[in-house]
Amino acid sequence: MNAKRACDLMIVNGYVLSLDRERRVYPSGAVAIDGAHIVAVGREQDLAASHAPRRTLDARGAVVHPGFIDAHVHIVHGTCRGIFGDRPQPGAPGVNFADWKADVTPEDENAATAFAGLEMLRNGFTCFVEPGSVFDSDAVAAACESVGVRAMLAGCYLWDQIEIMSTLGKLDSKRMYERAPASLDRSLRELGKELHRNRDPESLVRGYVAIYGLGTASDELERAGKKLADEHKVAFHQHDGYTPESHAADRARLGKTRLARLMELGVVGANSALVHMNLIDDSDVPDLLKTGATLVWSPHAYFGLGSAATLRPKIPHLYKRGMNVALAVDGTMDIRIGEAAAGAFALARQEGVAIEPEDLIEMQTIRAAKSAGMERELGSLEPGKRADIVVRSAEAAETYPAVNPVHQLALMAREGSADTVIVNGQIVLRGGRSTRLDDMAVLAEVKASVKRRMSRLGLVPNLAWPVVN
Ligand SMILES: [Zn+2]
Repeated sequence: MNAKRACDLMIVNGYVLSLDRERRVYPSGAVAIDGAHIVAVGREQDLAASHAPRRTLDARGAVVHPGFIDAHVHIVHGTCRGIFGDRPQPGAPGVNFADWKADVTPEDENAATAFAGLEMLRNGFTCFVEPGSVFDSDAVAAACESVGVRAMLAGCYLWDQIEIMSTLGKLDSKRMYERAPASLDRSLRELGKELHRNRDPESLVRGYVAIYGLGTASDELERAGKKLADEHKVAFHQHDGYTPESHAADRARLGKTRLARLMELGVVGANSALVHMNLIDDSDVPDLLKTGATLVWSPHAYFGLGSAATLRPKIPHLYKRGMNVALAVDGTMDIRIGEAAAGAFALARQEGVAIEPEDLIEMQTIRAAKSAGMERELGSLEPGKRADIVVRSAEAAETYPAVNPVHQLALMAREGSADTVIVNGQIVLRGGRSTRLDDMAVLAEVKASVKRRMSRLGLVPNLAWPVVN
């Protein structure tokens, strides 16, 4: 009889969703992990015969899946929950959301990232793609490493023509342009600022290339971004197709859509991701389908436009025609991490397109990994991939009646249903709590940070009902 292969850890008694090429599911499954990598996935009886783990972790019949990846989240922006809304801000009516974004210190960014990182783990997310909207990336990276969540970072607000921002309302801010000036020189200098992180393959924080997009980049900046991403074999991201106003302004300026221009420039390829794409002209669809690019779908950003009556979403249709689509929350001011799937499901139904629970899981695992340029390392449970694994709770009510665990996971599972989370082979969440940090200390820190930020900007709680002290 052959000797069993030793390994560090084996997850046993799991309902394992592999997301491998055949999308195999093992109802009595196991995953063997050695160091930072997965070494075997399959039926428990087979792995028990072939591997000798030093430790085992009993999933108690619960779902085991690859860590979810949010393909686009402004990680520090969730801290302004409840501060800005449809009512004018009573403390400082002239201060908008972009002013808030610009007035941030490294301590605030560290606190906000730790807070968001914990929320991610608790919702079964192990990785996020940050689109270049943090000012002190080292403070953000340090928070990611301490929480134990994986991140992709890019240079900060890379843009060199911001006239179009005047069409974007609350995203337009003088403070922001003072802090992140629109400049080709600055943008070219910072384009590859985060790529040094890729020299350490064990780092949880990696670099990629992103520019802000939405018509804020010259042709030269667009080309330089794509070239650098190609040279370093990383993803190239930008926002595009966001609001009808910016889409129309771009069209008037260019005599064609921005997407047509980007495709002409050769910057939309297999490693490119276009974020939002609420507007895609029919005339651009045939060329777009040939690019192999990813569309990053953020349903709540679409809902937030209030344009449902006139703006029919194209992404679910393009997914059905073979485009890679990844889900994202974009910002978490009014929603929580992990809610993009339910939004996408509802929006696709409204469009009359059947986006199934399996599709939603793919858009947060293997397809999101492709959008991040990480498909060789993340996105599925397969030998050789990084051990980024979520074990759901066998007790969480939202995982029942458990007739169709994929349906439950895609549409019901939220915070509280993730029991154990493993990132890079390390258990970072156990029993729904951080194994590394004092959860309550993280919450206290973010509360203190937000209080300081509100005081700096003169903001007060935006409460409609009379408060009786
Ligand atoms: Zn965004």
